[in-house]
Amino acid sequence: MKWTNWSGSVKSEPIAILYPSSEDEIIEIVKDALGTNKKIRMIGSGHSFSRILETEELLVSLDNMQGIISHDVESQTATVWAGTKLKKLGDLLFDIGLAQENMGDINVQSIAGALSTGTHGTGNTLGTLSTQIVEITFVNGLGQLQMVNEQKDKSLFDAIRLSLGTLGIFTRVKIRLDKCYRLAEVTQKESLKQCLEQLEWSITENRNFEFFWFPHTDTVQTKFLNKTEEPFRRVGFLKKVTDLLIENWLFYALSSMARILPGFSKQVAKISAWGISNGKFVDWSHNIYATSRSVRFNEMEYNVPIEYFKTALIELKELIEKEGINVHFPIECRFVRKDDIMISPAYNRTAAYIAVHQFKGMPYEGYFKKSEAIFKKYNGRPHWGKINYLSESDFSKLYPKWIEFKEIQNVQDPNGLFLNAYLEKLFANDA
Ligand SMILES: Cc1cc2nc3c(=O)[nH]c(=O)nc-3n(C[C@H](O)[C@H](O)[C@H](O)COP(=O)(O)OP(=O)(O)OC[C@H]3O[C@@H](n4cnc5c(N)ncnc54)[C@H](O)[C@@H]3O)c2cc1C
Repeated sequence: MKWTNWSGSVKSEPIAILYPSSEDEIIEIVKDALGTNKKIRMIGSGHSFSRILETEELLVSLDNMQGIISHDVESQTATVWAGTKLKKLGDLLFDIGLAQENMGDINVQSIAGALSTGTHGTGNTLGTLSTQIVEITFVNGLGQLQMVNEQKDKSLFDAIRLSLGTLGIFTRVKIRLDKCYRLAEVTQKESLKQCLEQLEWSITENRNFEFFWFPHTDTVQTKFLNKTEEPFRRVGFLKKVTDLLIENWLFYALSSMARILPGFSKQVAKISAWGISNGKFVDWSHNIYATSRSVRFNEMEYNVPIEYFKTALIELKELIEKEGINVHFPIECRFVRKDDIMISPAYNRTAAYIAVHQFKGMPYEGYFKKSEAIFKKYNGRPHWGKINYLSESDFSKLYPKWIEFKEIQNVQDPNGLFLNAYLEKLFANDA
């Protein structure tokens, strides 16, 4: 059986993909695997770029375990099956008057997959999706069904909320939510200089701020989201069709030309920057956060302390320009609140995330490695779901609670049932 992730960067041939429908079935799968000496990797929507999903053994998907199990509008919480896809979650929550506090820029991931890699949106006062979780139920590497929250076991809770599926198979998660809210989205074309000059205001005076800088240009697209009571101003049918054609079809066509003639990337970046238009929309939050990403790419993203953000970005710009790197995908910059999750890139620091992308099929290793050298210089920590070239020794220096995390991982999964070759190098006892 051949399997590949969304971007095509990871390919493997698992023995089988299993689709359990209940916690009992999951326990059985774990016990069978232990008895037959097989390893397990869990899969959400396969949207991670890093090697965390690679396996020649068993893949377990919770696609048959989706939906809301229970909810409480008063305390604004809901317990959902861990396989629930974020788009479905948004729609189901909306029906009961609730919404996620924040989201990333797509909604096709499963909630378990998104939590497991530290998926984040943007917003200086808002944490990663893992910080929205108040309780997790999971089957550990011994086949035991466990429930953990902050009160029951703070250390385990701080480890499991971002754990790459190395502690067990999440079956249910309880999420802290907001009442349904509307967001006004304002997008603008600006110069990079202007954007950096007003950065402080953009970050602190807006609920969600991010920007995309187009390489080989001085142009950025800024995006501000703020809660509002204003009347809806939805994306009209005509604009939807035009966006689909421009952002997907035309961008894909230009990207494909750049794949054949890499030097053309610079022109594509300039055309894309030229095509940015200003806009304002108002809609329910779950409709605003999610965008469509149908042109496939590979990605590296680093969390960099806020005090180094501008310097790191300018160095990246100089690198791309001096070396004439053939890239046309914009560099995305977001801002996220600190958390207390042991191996979260946002651990103990409110910081910026800088992401570099390359069109699928175009070489990315040289560009990503040189970008990583800049991020590393500024104490950057990579997004776990995206490409990075770090070793165990790098991670152990980046995370003060690295050893503690490994000890907890070893208690929950002493046989390394959930470790593939890549994760073994990071988390196995002798790693
Ligand atoms: C187009 C695109 C846009 C993206 N946008 C963003 C963004 O805005 N912000 C951001 O931070 N990231 C973003 N990402 C990265 C993405 O959110 C993460 O890689 C996320 O983990 C993918 O979720 P998934 O459901 O596909 O999980 P997968 O990639 O399938 O799995 C991720 C991890 O979760 C584990 N896992 C899955 N199910 C379970 C389970 N039931 N129990 C325990 N562990 C489990 C897997 O074993 C694996 O370690 C984007 C990726 C793509 C391709």
